[in-house]
Amino acid sequence: MTRPLPPSLASIVSCISGYDPNALPIPQARAFIDQLVPRLNTVEMLPLRSALGRVLARDIVSHLNVPAHDNSAMDGYAFAGSELAEDTDTVLQVTGALLAGDPSARPVGAGQCVRIMTGAVMPAGLDTVVPQEFVQQDGDRIIIPANVLRAGDNRRLAGEDLAIGDNALTAGRVLRPADIGLLASLGQAEVPVQRRLRVAFFSTGNELRSIGEPLDEGCVYDSNRYTLWSMLQRLGVEILDLGVVRDDPQALAAAFSTAAANADAVITSGGVSVGEADHTKTVMAELGDVLFWRIAMRPGRPMAIGRIRADHGDAILFGLPGNPVAVMVTFYALVRDALLTMSGATSNTLPLLRCTAAQPIRKKPGRTEYQRAIVTPATGGGWQASITGSQGSGILRSMSEANGLMVLHHDQGNVAAGDLVDVLPFDGLI
Ligand code: AMP
Ligand code: MG
Repeated sequence: MTRPLPPSLASIVSCISGYDPNALPIPQARAFIDQLVPRLNTVEMLPLRSALGRVLARDIVSHLNVPAHDNSAMDGYAFAGSELAEDTDTVLQVTGALLAGDPSARPVGAGQCVRIMTGAVMPAGLDTVVPQEFVQQDGDRIIIPANVLRAGDNRRLAGEDLAIGDNALTAGRVLRPADIGLLASLGQAEVPVQRRLRVAFFSTGNELRSIGEPLDEGCVYDSNRYTLWSMLQRLGVEILDLGVVRDDPQALAAAFSTAAANADAVITSGGVSVGEADHTKTVMAELGDVLFWRIAMRPGRPMAIGRIRADHGDAILFGLPGNPVAVMVTFYALVRDALLTMSGATSNTLPLLRCTAAQPIRKKPGRTEYQRAIVTPATGGGWQASITGSQGSGILRSMSEANGLMVLHHDQGNVAAGDLVDVLPFDGLI
């Protein structure tokens, strides 16, 4: 079977209104990337527990009623709701007891009830359970006070969680703990998931040294590979770390070829600034179909995006800027959702938290700014966000101190103290 040719970069560009590679707004950049990236479709079956965090590949339709029978929601006494007297006590005779898991019960006659535990199957004809703390006991009889209960109370209906034929889970879902439990409630031992996305990455720059190497004069330790590794690890993709690559055409070409041959996506950091006098951009352009953007964002501006050719099909290239905070911000703003989309996941956009700004913030309309922020509970309810110290794009410490990124949107202007702002919280971020 021949694969349909992916759309050219030029044809994607022609679909994006307001496309300006030299000042590209974030929404346009995201729309472009969404059209660029292919969606995985290679299904594997995994034992249920191994499917946690993976992308469900097929809809799961319930072949059972969950619960299978009407059952009691409380410890108490089951009876027919029609026995309930109006405005006066109801007196019933207790004829037996039913525990969760007991098969079926003898029929219960008029004026009778049965002791029942939570989860036990409701005997035929009974539809109501009175909780034990509501009743008075008198020998083998119980007295239910007037007006504490209505017919049908405290009974769970067969299939109220999942009925036969219900769509339990939809393909494209990233499986969370509740989903794993839901699949277990259907008795599903194996789950069809998409294979893991493979992501290769490396750092570029002659000044970079890896951990374990001496730090020569003028050099810095490569931190981007470690933040990238950490962010990718949390996304649950398969990771291929190709190390630090020197600013040398052959070394760069070899790294790009290896990366593209072994991965669905290639992420690099450094070497994509406008006017940069290194070889990264030249080699990217030679080995693939690549656009060089200046994005209307701060921090993060430069980025390369496109495809690197490989025998198995092109790999998607995300060429991120080199500054340590810019790498993280562009990853969260543009790459994270794209990798999830490539993994076959649907609806993966992160929710933003509305917070009160603790201080005034200068902001120019016409670009999206991401400020490192600390979110704390506000006095009187809600949340307050204050900016962490220096916002320089090389200051990783203020990123580490932050527990969220304040997102000041493209058209937004100056923020006054007390204004509402959006924050992308780090906690819970995958
Ligand atoms: P570049 O985008 O290559 O011009 O790099 C911008 C700045 O980020 C320079 O100060 C680089 O030294 C720094 N930088 C680039 N890559 C890394 C990295 N992997 N780890 C730490 N700093 C980096
Ligand atoms: Mg560089």
